Amino acid sequence: MRAPKATFLVACAFFAAFAPCQEWSAKLSPEQEAALSQITENGLRAHVSFLAADILEGRGTPSRGLDIAAEYIAAQFRRAGLEPGGGTNTFFQGEQVKKRGSEERAHAKNVVGILRGSDPILSETYIVVGAHYDHLGVREGPEADNIFNGANDDASGTAALIEMAIAMGSLKQRPKRTVVFVAFYGEERGMLGSRFFVANPPMPLQRCVAMINLEHMGRTDDVEGATDDRGYVTGFGYSEVSDVLALAGKESGFDLGSHARNSDAFFGASDNISFAMQGIPSHTVCTAFIFPDYHKVSDHWEQLNYPNFVKAVRAVCRALFTLVGSDRTPRWMPDHPRTARYREAWQRLVDRIPAQ
Ligand SMILES: [Zn+2]
Repeated sequence: MRAPKATFLVACAFFAAFAPCQEWSAKLSPEQEAALSQITENGLRAHVSFLAADILEGRGTPSRGLDIAAEYIAAQFRRAGLEPGGGTNTFFQGEQVKKRGSEERAHAKNVVGILRGSDPILSETYIVVGAHYDHLGVREGPEADNIFNGANDDASGTAALIEMAIAMGSLKQRPKRTVVFVAFYGEERGMLGSRFFVANPPMPLQRCVAMINLEHMGRTDDVEGATDDRGYVTGFGYSEVSDVLALAGKESGFDLGSHARNSDAFFGASDNISFAMQGIPSHTVCTAFIFPDYHKVSDHWEQLNYPNFVKAVRAVCRALFTLVGSDRTPRWMPDHPRTARYREAWQRLVDRIPAQ
């Protein structure tokens, strides 16, 4: 793992022309600390148990169960005080998608909510937090239970997204940057929702400075061993966003770091990659990569480790507070061998849309 101080100096030297360089700090204001403590086990349990209930039939893309989940998320975004970010007066944006194994199409939608920043300049810059709310739906088979509930994958990330939106929405002193909360459809069908989002963003993508994606946030029984008090960041070390996550983890007493093999291997395995391919520093956070009920009908809400889950969400939310409150723009690490294509993508994005 790289030394944070050296990272800071290299980034400052390289990007001094683009952004004022302030050292990252994951220390929060008393109001922000109080907001973090509003994120509770019971709040997470409530969201996951609803989203993963049998009545939603595994939230396949597209399906009625997915649409009910979308309404639930939009209702929670209203509770958080978010502005609709899907279009004029709507939280929804989406497209017609073919049903699995059929020519029939139905609408599937992302749920997008915006929390405006307070700084006259930085509020025109955006940080996206995302999670996919779809799962595999219902599949006929020999088992009595044929509903793929997808509690950890990814009702957990969606619940974390909602709780973070409510925590941030409760602040009287709004953070400097604007935050876009988005629940994606169709991750399980090839990241359809995040691909649609980056093609139809509610803001110029060039002003989107970071993205954090939430996956598998509730289980600690990774097939490789228990992962209590620990979360993993994919593409760890690729951008300063992962440095901020690690710093926030340290401050929270919850390790957010690298997995020797999976951090690289899973970088392209979830919706963060749709943003990375556009050049936006983006990573996925999880507490387990593969767990015993992964993509099985038994991925039920009762199986999650809620005391650990709430610690994980608070740690990630601390990182989000850090990013939205800082003048510093997170960048891909110029000296990392795996970042060249993403840095090139960022340059293409900047060249395409002139800065204002
Ligand atoms: Zn997933």
